[in-house]
Amino acid sequence: MSDGAGTLAARLAAVRGSIAAACREAGRDPAEVTLLPVSKTFGEDVIREAVGLGLRRFGENKVQEIQAKAAGLADERLDWVVIGHLQTNKAKAVAKLAAEVQSLDRLDLAVALDKALQAQGRAIDVLVQVKTSREESKFGLVPEALPGFLDELKAFPSLRLRGLMTLAEASPDDAVVRACFRTLYRLRDRARDAGHPADRLSMGMSGDFALAIAEGSTEVRIGSAIFGARSYKPV
Ligand SMILES: *Cc1c(COP(=O)(O)O)cnc(C)c1O
Repeated sequence: MSDGAGTLAARLAAVRGSIAAACREAGRDPAEVTLLPVSKTFGEDVIREAVGLGLRRFGENKVQEIQAKAAGLADERLDWVVIGHLQTNKAKAVAKLAAEVQSLDRLDLAVALDKALQAQGRAIDVLVQVKTSREESKFGLVPEALPGFLDELKAFPSLRLRGLMTLAEASPDDAVVRACFRTLYRLRDRARDAGHPADRLSMGMSGDFALAIAEGSTEVRIGSAIFGARSYKPV
């Protein structure tokens, strides 16, 4: 814990410094950009260390992993944020454990989540995941379907719409990556113009957060730059 650049504390400080630098470069106030640490694949000991550094909100992409970690870390009362593709049959577990879902991408999932949340007497914040890249492997609602979907979401009292989320195309070309983020920014503006409470823009990961901040991100989801390389590939 005490020897310099290889520690979690040092990597977290470096990431915070890079976020602030990207904000300055973009003429933005660093207070506008939230850091969501992504702890997927890392165990309870690492998360406890992160909690010791003041982190309380963690992004995870698998419900089973949240279930295991939430049980082991129940004493810490952490906020678990779902950022991965969600199967509808996981709605009950999400309704019990998640503080927020950023990967809401279809109506049947909204129906299932709202029903499960109502049964729990809870409401949670949600972001709608939009597919802004051309890659087949990426999940998310296609941009053309977003306006109608946002209108439909009004029917679900337990889902509090807060904004949009995307993953940029994995491309070595910054212009391609930025175009994905710019698409989300424009969709957010249109959503707000239509009266939706969609202020937040969750975009940017370890490899592309500076570009996302330049394009208006309000929340960057950062895993490997804080926690180190993951030992297995996320699904
Ligand atoms: C894993 C993951 C991240 C973080 O990725 P890093 O490259 O490790 O920063 C961000 N968003 C989503 C949706 C993820 O699944």
